[in-house]
Amino acid sequence: MIEIRFHGRGGQGTVVASELLAQAAFLDGKIPQSFPFFGVERRGAPVTAFTRIDDRPIRLRTSITRPDVVVVLDPGLLRTTPVTEGLAPGGLLLVNTPRRAEELAAPPGVRRASVDATRIALAHGLGTAMLPIVNTAVLGALARATGVVTLEALGRAVEQFVPARPAENHRAARDGYLGVRNADPAAAAPVPATFAVPAPLAHPEGPVASVSSEVIHTAAWRTFTPVIHLDRCTKCNFCWKFCPDAAVELGADGFPRIRLEYCKGCGICAAECPPKTIEMVAEA
Ligand code: SF4
Ligand code: SF4
Repeated sequence: MIEIRFHGRGGQGTVVASELLAQAAFLDGKIPQSFPFFGVERRGAPVTAFTRIDDRPIRLRTSITRPDVVVVLDPGLLRTTPVTEGLAPGGLLLVNTPRRAEELAAPPGVRRASVDATRIALAHGLGTAMLPIVNTAVLGALARATGVVTLEALGRAVEQFVPARPAENHRAARDGYLGVRNADPAAAAPVPATFAVPAPLAHPEGPVASVSSEVIHTAAWRTFTPVIHLDRCTKCNFCWKFCPDAAVELGADGFPRIRLEYCKGCGICAAECPPKTIEMVAEA
């Protein structure tokens, strides 16, 4: 059995990636299982999804704590989330990033691969610069880096199950397949099948308690920062009203100000601002 854990953000197609991989494995004649785990259901929030693939029926129903492969759809998560937790020597870390695979930090013995899935997604018109939908490009890279599914099966799964722009997604998967870079040439070989015994969870799974953005530090999720051009601001207060994290405060002069310690960079304020005076600027 091969166990694959996906880390992404809400809106990037992380859950769909795990489901598409399972569909492709099924088309290849394997027996798959996929399911997501949502910590906080918000656009931009970290999302984890799991896929198991085997030749025999899979009886495990737990989340994957000792993955053979970890796939990271948003490189910003490398700074804030222990994505490689449980990844054993011989496993593979695949990251969507323009950086070379050799530049990725990974536990000893873990192989590394990278793919610029954001560039590929945008080249095919999938998503926006703020929220590119990178899942199919990443899956193409995963197919090549591990051999866990064939590109043919992945293409058929994309054509059958992606609800929007299947042709563009199919081409993105092909470009991801061609564009993956391995730090270790051996990473291009199929990942050896291992049977991972789930470790006891440090925290019980289940409903997540409702806590404030200050407690879970949502500002660490931010990859884009809102910048208000006050010279065009009409003081309508829409940004203050619509911010889901109360990260906008109004000054005595009536102008809004972003409290970056609470802002997660979701871009809702920019989308709702009537005169479009809020610009979302990529963080360096
Ligand atoms: S200030 Fe804007 S970008 Fe930041 S959390 Fe609020 S709505 Fe999202
Ligand atoms: S929504 Fe735009 S125009 Fe309205 S207060 Fe906010 S920044 Fe100003």
